[in-house]
Amino acid sequence: MLASEIRALFAVASRPEVVSLAGGMPNIAGLPLDAVGDVLAKVLADRGQVALQYGSGQGDPALREQICDVMALEGIRAHADDVVITVGSQQGLDLVTRIFCDPGDVVLAEAPSYVGALSVFRSYQAEVVHVAMDDDGLRPDDLRAAIGQLEQGLRRPKLLYTVPNFHNPAGVSMARERRAEVLEICQAAGVIVIEDNPYGLLGFDAEPTPALRSLDDGVIYLGSFSKTFAPGFRVGWVTAPHGVRDKLVLAAEASVLCPPTFSQLAVSTYLATEPWQQQIKSFQEMYRERRDALLTALDDMFPPGAVWTRPAGGFYVWATMPAGLDTKAMLPRAVTARVAYVPGTAFYADGSGASSLRLSYCYPTPERIREGVRRLADVIAGELDLLETFGGPDRVRRPMRARPQAPAPDTA
Ligand code: PMP
Repeated sequence: MLASEIRALFAVASRPEVVSLAGGMPNIAGLPLDAVGDVLAKVLADRGQVALQYGSGQGDPALREQICDVMALEGIRAHADDVVITVGSQQGLDLVTRIFCDPGDVVLAEAPSYVGALSVFRSYQAEVVHVAMDDDGLRPDDLRAAIGQLEQGLRRPKLLYTVPNFHNPAGVSMARERRAEVLEICQAAGVIVIEDNPYGLLGFDAEPTPALRSLDDGVIYLGSFSKTFAPGFRVGWVTAPHGVRDKLVLAAEASVLCPPTFSQLAVSTYLATEPWQQQIKSFQEMYRERRDALLTALDDMFPPGAVWTRPAGGFYVWATMPAGLDTKAMLPRAVTARVAYVPGTAFYADGSGASSLRLSYCYPTPERIREGVRRLADVIAGELDLLETFGGPDRVRRPMRARPQAPAPDTA
């Protein structure tokens, strides 16, 4: 196991003077805390003895029913028996990988891919093979090519891990017309599809696109309340075919005995008594405003030659700098200038991504986002000047290893 680049960053990026475009923390400032307090009080008053007790390994049956209603918004028809509640979708991914992957097994994942998933795959010693994306998400032709190439070496990938909606970190979504094709390719090759969908209901412009799981019951679907409600409850779920579901429950029991009952009842009561769909709408509006602020600032200030994605939902923009610029080497200088991002290499298992970076717009205010981009654009301009003067990334990297100085007081 290795410390992720995001982990080291959190300490620095959480200083108030730094505009953090790094972490992907949901912005729960919009949640009405008094209403959440009422929900918690109700849980204790009505079902305190149950809420503070161990529960079932598969999770609370009533919450599993409600989760089926949530998934129906993305076209999924599932039964509560198919659902296993987990400690965030992160635990769901951990359990699925534990069940399927032996050391040396191949997992296909988008290029780039969610850093927390790469950590899970690495911890089970699975080998990640990346599959290219474009503005319409995972590319079926590259998926076919990756599987074909592995087959030539007599290897078959076990899993395809995909984040089809508002991808972390790429900010793109898998086009509706690609979804069936991706499933067909995987079916033909005997590859199990894991659909990780924490952002699916956070689209800004349109109704949710039907989930992969809505097209194929064999897909293992990971869901979460972290982005549509609050991550502190740590409630996520896996929807899986029966045989897999049974193994998941056994693996979950071995891992945590049962998911936290209090959290589950809190989420369940919230769904039953609060206008949660309205709350999701208000999250969408808040994130849309921030997305707009980031895209406008990038359009106004980023240098020619840089390109970036234009997300229609979720939290992230993926930007790629002119060739030669190393975003990891640039980071100390950016932090000195009081702006943080995540270097692209964090999102690849194979060391690629050096000229890209992830910008999260979910947390700072629109004004701070603009100020952050102004600072970052200055840093990038400085890097590009150096690159032009010294003519190569190796030369440019040296001055950037200097320790960042104490940041000047924030004025933004
Ligand atoms: N998958 C993706 C793509 C994510 O972005 C995240 C959180 N950043 C997770 C899974 C984990 O979410 P949680 O465990 O809070 O449900």
